[in-house]
Parts: sequence; C-alpha cells; structure tokens
Amino acid sequence: MKDKPIYVTEPFLPPLDEFTIYLKQIWKNKTLTNGGLFHQQLEKALCEYLGVEHISLFNNGTVGLITALQALKIKGEVITTPYSFVATAHSLLWNGIEPVFVDIDPSTLNLDPSKIEAAITSKTTAIMPVHCYGHPCDVEAIQEIADRHNLKVIYDAAHAFGVQCDCGSVLKHGDLSVLSFHATKVFNTFEGGAIVCPNAETKRLIDRLKNFGFVDEVTVNVAGINGKMSEVNAAFGLVQLNHIDAALEGRKTADTLYRALLKDVMGIRFLEGSGERVANYSYFPIMVESSYPLTRDELYHRLKQSNIFARRYFYPLISEFPVYKKFPSASPGMLPVATKASQEVLCLPLYSSLPEVEQLRIVSLIKNI
Ligand SMILES: *Cc1c(COP(=O)(O)O)cnc(C)c1O
Repeated sequence: MKDKPIYVTEPFLPPLDEFTIYLKQIWKNKTLTNGGLFHQQLEKALCEYLGVEHISLFNNGTVGLITALQALKIKGEVITTPYSFVATAHSLLWNGIEPVFVDIDPSTLNLDPSKIEAAITSKTTAIMPVHCYGHPCDVEAIQEIADRHNLKVIYDAAHAFGVQCDCGSVLKHGDLSVLSFHATKVFNTFEGGAIVCPNAETKRLIDRLKNFGFVDEVTVNVAGINGKMSEVNAAFGLVQLNHIDAALEGRKTADTLYRALLKDVMGIRFLEGSGERVANYSYFPIMVESSYPLTRDELYHRLKQSNIFARRYFYPLISEFPVYKKFPSASPGMLPVATKASQEVLCLPLYSSLPEVEQLRIVSLIKNI
C-alpha cells in the first residue's frame, strides 16, 4: 500500500464551530457582501495584526495587483522579476504594460537591485518586486533607485503575510503592497487578497476602484472592477486570525527540523533563514545542485513515486511562458541566476499540521538515493 499523499501545502483550517457562529450571524444580518460588518472588522483586525495603517480587502491577490497598478496610473514599462508566480506579470499585461524582466540575487532569489538601473528606459514608470518565499527584498536599495528615477514601487507581497523588517512590517515599503489570501498561502480566506495603502486617501481611491468606480449611488468616474471580498470570506479570515500565531509556530517547527536534518546533505542547499523576527516560514525551497546524485527533476519524480508532491516553484520562469517569451528582456541569457534557480529549486511540503514522521520520511528519501 502506498503512503498517504503529502502535498506541498495543506490549508490551515481553524475550528469549524467557530466559523459556524459567524455564518449564523450572516444568515441573520442578510448582508452577504459590499463592505459588510465582517469586511470592516477584518480590515481593522489585519491592520492591527500586521502593524499597518490602511488595508483594502480584495476577492483575490491578482485583482489586487491589477487594481494597484490602476490606482497609481502605471503605464509603459515596469521592471519585475521572472522568478515568481505568473500572476505578477499577468497583472502588468492586463493593464497594457510591458514587463521588463531583471535577474535575481542568488542568495535571496529576489530582484537584484544592482541590475535594475540598466533596465530603466524613458518608458519605465514603476518597479514590481516580489518578496519571494516571504524573504524581504532589499527595500532600501530599491527605494533609492525608484527615488532617483522617479518611479513607483508596487510590491507583490503575496508571500509576505506577517513578515517584518528592521523598521516594522515589510508591507509598509514601496507605494503599495499586495497580499494574497489564497488557500495555499500562510493566511487564507479561501480566495482573497488585500492592498496595503499608505494613507486614507489612497485607500478611498482603491475602495472605489474595487467597487466598479462608484463614488456614491449615482456617480462613477472611472472604469472600476469588481474586486470585493464577500462576508463569508471575511468571516473566515476573522476566525483564522485568532489562530494564526499557532499556525506560524507550527510552520517554524517544521522549518527548523528540515534545516537540522538536511544540513549536511551533499548537493542540497537551502536559502538562509531570514531570522527569527522576520520570517513567516511560508515555503521550504531547496536547491538541488550538480553535486547531488540526481537532477532536480529526477528527485521531484522520485518523491512523487512515494506520494510526496513537492513543487517546482518557480519553474518555468514567467519569462519562459509563450506570452512573455517575445519580450526582449525575457532572453534567458540576460537572466542567468533566475534560470539556474528555476532549474534547481524544489519546494518541500511545509505547513503547520505536517507530521514530524512525514518530514522524516521525506528527508530519508532525499538522503538515501
Ligand atoms: C498566489 C500569488 C499571487 C496570486 O494571488 P491570488 O490570490 O491567487 O490571485 C500573486 N503573486 C504571487 C507571488 C503569488 O504567490
């Protein structure tokens, strides 16, 4: 008999009876969406938990990214990373913007600030970096470049829930940061997302954009979208927020165990932890280097045969998909670090309820090749 399948992640589900209480309330109030009570409560609770001033909830992170670009009226070219989930670049195409891919830093796998300036042209209007796997970007270096060239910065912070940097929440950097609350993320609302806004005025603008552009009952000035989060999703977020610290603690335990067990395995390298204070342990990527007996893909298939479903995040690179290949910046020759990382990376299962015995099984499969 095969072992029970282990996926790269398992959603974090708080106690069902706590959620039921909220559902009964929704049935009673009969407010299902359009900025109801739970929507308002979740925005407030997330501001407090994350240590930010203003948040606008969304129905998913991708619509959040698209709307963030709209809110800042970004056009022309935007510098971004090829080493991310495809939605990062899709949000640019949906706004008629040309993505300009810039290579990543080999130690963090985030956009390499030292390579940004060479990619700036007269059409560049913004930079869209990603805090990959929840490791903070070099936010100071990126801001300095943006200031020098008068560019906006929109962070795809889909992996960065709860991540801290030296000056508090990493989500306070740049002009806007966009979170995803998809089921596979550290904090989820089934589907969902949010934009972290620097001030009340920007939040008001974004709140309108996600509600078709309505200013009041009879006034629409822009072609907004429907990006609203429903009351059911917001209620689930409130319940989950009560348990998020325990979930993060469970992830941390699993992360620590992997690091200890895989420390001296020849050909397996893992990214440096970003430290106690800052991390959210959202992924556990390993780099399968040439000194390992198998290639990354061979290891991926070997694990799969044992019902372990590790994932190759991020392979292929965004720049390798047919819709992006045609852009001059997508040439692999210009993206050597991202190309290599994409060929070596394997994200191991990591979630709060991952049993220790399963982690031991995964590690012994990796070790006993
Ligand atoms: C998950 C993810 C998104 C998309 O978020 P959705 O909520 O699924 O739309 C965008 N960017 C990155 C880096 C992601 O991991």
